[in-house]
Amino acid sequence: MTHLFHRAPLSPPLLATGGEGCFLIGADGKRYLDGSGGAAVSCLGHSDDTVKAAVHAQIDALPFAHTGFFTSAPAEALAEKLIAQAPEGFGRVYLTSGGSESVEAALKLARQWAIDSGQPDRRRIIARDQSYHGNTLGALATGGNAARRAPFAPLLPETWHIPPCYAYRGQDNGESEAEYGRRAADTLEAQILALGPETVLAFVAETVVGATLGSVPAAQGYFRRIREICDQYGILLILDEVMCGSGRCGTFFAFEAEGITPDIVTIAKGLGAGYQPIGAVLCTEALYQTIVNASGAFQHGHTYIGHPVAAAAANAVMGRLIDDDVLGRVIPAGEALQAALTDRLGQHPHIGDIRGRGLFRSVELVADRDTKTPFDPARKLHAKVKTAAMEEGLVCYPMGGTADGKAGDHVLLAPPYIISEDEIGMLADRLSAAI
Ligand code: PMP
Repeated sequence: MTHLFHRAPLSPPLLATGGEGCFLIGADGKRYLDGSGGAAVSCLGHSDDTVKAAVHAQIDALPFAHTGFFTSAPAEALAEKLIAQAPEGFGRVYLTSGGSESVEAALKLARQWAIDSGQPDRRRIIARDQSYHGNTLGALATGGNAARRAPFAPLLPETWHIPPCYAYRGQDNGESEAEYGRRAADTLEAQILALGPETVLAFVAETVVGATLGSVPAAQGYFRRIREICDQYGILLILDEVMCGSGRCGTFFAFEAEGITPDIVTIAKGLGAGYQPIGAVLCTEALYQTIVNASGAFQHGHTYIGHPVAAAAANAVMGRLIDDDVLGRVIPAGEALQAALTDRLGQHPHIGDIRGRGLFRSVELVADRDTKTPFDPARKLHAKVKTAAMEEGLVCYPMGGTADGKAGDHVLLAPPYIISEDEIGMLADRLSAAI
């Protein structure tokens, strides 16, 4: 008997009772290889002694201090560590309790910047189709996932969506990747011009698209062109790195690989590595000063922002990633994972694409490899793969395709960065058995 709200289709849910390295342990003793870190969360596995000790010590020292009255040493230290990783010009960090809260705060930060800089007409948000930015009202309205939006429509009215940059389904025959990247980015300019540039506040995108498309990096040059367009029209670029950031793609911020810097970036998930719920929004010092000069402070806050225990966990996570260089494992382990998946599934008649960056990898299922035709989403193959994988002892993150056929079923993999070579082989074996 359970009195909790639960997600279908794992209802009733399995009872998890322990975690060890890359494995979760069920009540019956069965060991599940955590091939997706839950949803790209558990980047250090489930028994990191350093993070656990930091959490215990912080609970002993100071479990909570409300930010209306106090700051705390772990929150200050975390902000310093994050800014040390950020590009020049970034100076401020707003701590949250998770991804949706980070996106929500980023949207309000952008809006307050527009008002405080004397541009109150800038209110429209452009994001992309098939995107996910969280489940709170503003973040949900920003996301372009039709199925998630539909039950709650109408949402916030000032959001628009352009097509994603998705080479597997978007690049034309004979078109180079760079040409496609430019063409995909130019859809932003067309949308801005249609709305009126002076009314557009921000463009929001994931640097590497996570859950909704399955670890899709943008085509070469896409984000450089996006940055140019945003600069040209005075629009803020908000990169949502809740899933792809915190080292998941091999650099602490995924945008480092694109040769651009955003105005605002959101992170969460891997920042707390599952040991504590935490997220962050980072912005440029100039943006922050505009707000402080005009209205004194960012008019936003929640009870648990800068929570000392969560910040202590994140400090320890950052220490493991940067000082212990666990981050340095991501690129080679990611290449090994890509090779193992290609070995087991590269010739499979229903695997159309194996892709990703770092330890953020996906396989896309197709009815026909040559035509790239997706399966009918009504068949819910992704849910069947999830059930079969759990039977095989593998946690992975399958998602369904869209009703319009523009995205197929795929399985997202985002294992802990500490995954060993043997465990990579096991992951590929179990996934291929499940498929
Ligand atoms: N943005 C992105 C890109 C995400 O992947 C997610 C979660 N899957 C969120 C925002 C929302 O994060 P949370 O579930 O922690 O609220």
